[in-house]
Amino acid sequence: MAIDMAVGTPTIEQFREQARAWLRQNAPARTAVRDEHDVSVFHNLDHDAELEVLRELREWQRLKFDAGYAALSWPTELHGAGLPTEYADAFKEEETAAVAPTRHELFSVTVNLIAPTVRIYGSDELRSLLLPGLLDGSLLACQLFSEPGAGSDLANISTRAVREGDEWVVNGQKVWTSGAQFADWGQAIVRTEAGSKRNRGLTTLMVPMDAPGVEVRQIRQMSGGTSFNEVFLTDVRVPDAYRMGDVGDGWGVTRATLGFERANASNKAGVGGSFEQLVDLARRTRSLSHRDVRLALADVRMREIAAEIALRRDKRARDAGEAPGAAGSMRKLQWVAKLNRVSDLARTLLADRAVADLGEPGTFSWNAHVLGAPGYRIAGGTDQIQRSIVAERHLNLPPEPKVAESRSWKERP
Ligand SMILES: Cc1cc2nc3c(=O)[nH]c(=O)nc-3n(C[C@H](O)[C@H](O)[C@H](O)COP(=O)(O)OP(=O)(O)OC[C@H]3O[C@@H](n4cnc5c(N)ncnc54)[C@H](O)[C@@H]3O)c2cc1C
Repeated sequence: MAIDMAVGTPTIEQFREQARAWLRQNAPARTAVRDEHDVSVFHNLDHDAELEVLRELREWQRLKFDAGYAALSWPTELHGAGLPTEYADAFKEEETAAVAPTRHELFSVTVNLIAPTVRIYGSDELRSLLLPGLLDGSLLACQLFSEPGAGSDLANISTRAVREGDEWVVNGQKVWTSGAQFADWGQAIVRTEAGSKRNRGLTTLMVPMDAPGVEVRQIRQMSGGTSFNEVFLTDVRVPDAYRMGDVGDGWGVTRATLGFERANASNKAGVGGSFEQLVDLARRTRSLSHRDVRLALADVRMREIAAEIALRRDKRARDAGEAPGAAGSMRKLQWVAKLNRVSDLARTLLADRAVADLGEPGTFSWNAHVLGAPGYRIAGGTDQIQRSIVAERHLNLPPEPKVAESRSWKERP
């Protein structure tokens, strides 16, 4: 049964009951689920297997969308259910308990980062064009932010867009674009004012990834997968109707997307090896009774519990209408530290079996956690950048000196 609003808004308990019943009937029997020994942080699948994961996620999203569960806290006129955010949180909990955690970075970027940005900054026309598809799983969108010369220092981007009539002509290169090879759209930050300085003169465009002049080249990672790409943009024509926010306001739009990213980063069920899988590994390597191993396991579990408490605290603040501030950065740092503690212990337990595949299930596979975990120290803003955010915005320490602030991006080293 989908959400029953016949007698007004259900109480949260009634809603949970309805959601559980719906999930019992509709939760998919997955074929592309992770096997019990999959502890990967990023997909290390071939192209077809990755497409199959996306197909299953799209189908599941479509089912949720049709039943009203896809955008519970969004307003009804924007395809949502108009319920308070605690209902969306409750559904997420029930869904996590009922559905095997198949995941894909591009899916999460589409639904959790780009859809809410389009909701805030898209024109009515752009919202009608994109929001139904971004919410029901039929359209996938990637983030075209980083460039070879602009990562942490994103304000240094040099991809240019020049206005010609009702269109923008875009030229430049983006890099590390997660999922670009499967994306229908890309949210691009481009420089629209020649000679502008730092974060001024930037604009956000939604670029159709099949437009002439868009070329996607996959990057092979040390873990074996190809999660991200280089994207070359050569004379790509983008209608002005696909612009988000005002001309020159691209920085504000991008910061909003990055804010959604940080708030989501600490909330990724099913990324990497779990505490339970780590305990299992300790048991199988006959190390569970070792004092240092037990202490390290306790440390991982404590970090998980601390992260759950922090998430609940920040959700309460959000529901009370408080701005997120540096909370997302703090939670991302906490989560990344936990991922890396899991790596440390897995490496210690496996010793040489971590580097040579001896055919024993659940051993060498930890490589996909150990080699993938450092990626999240970088993705969505590096650890150092998150620390600067916490220092400046939470602890009110003096800001980092902006030495090159007065120079245009072209003059900067
Ligand atoms: C898994 C993954 C997925 C990604 N997905 C995407 C995506 O979909 N779209 C996209 O646009 N980008 C994506 N990125 C790119 C990511 O946003 C950048 O890699 C990141 O912002 C860092 O930029 P950089 O690689 O240029 O490193 P740099 O900015 O060159 O940093 C190099 C080192 O210097 C440090 N450093 C830099 N500036 C400072 C400072 N001011 N203070 C202290 N230390 C500093 C950094 O912390 C880092 O250790 C992804 C990256 C990863 C790893």
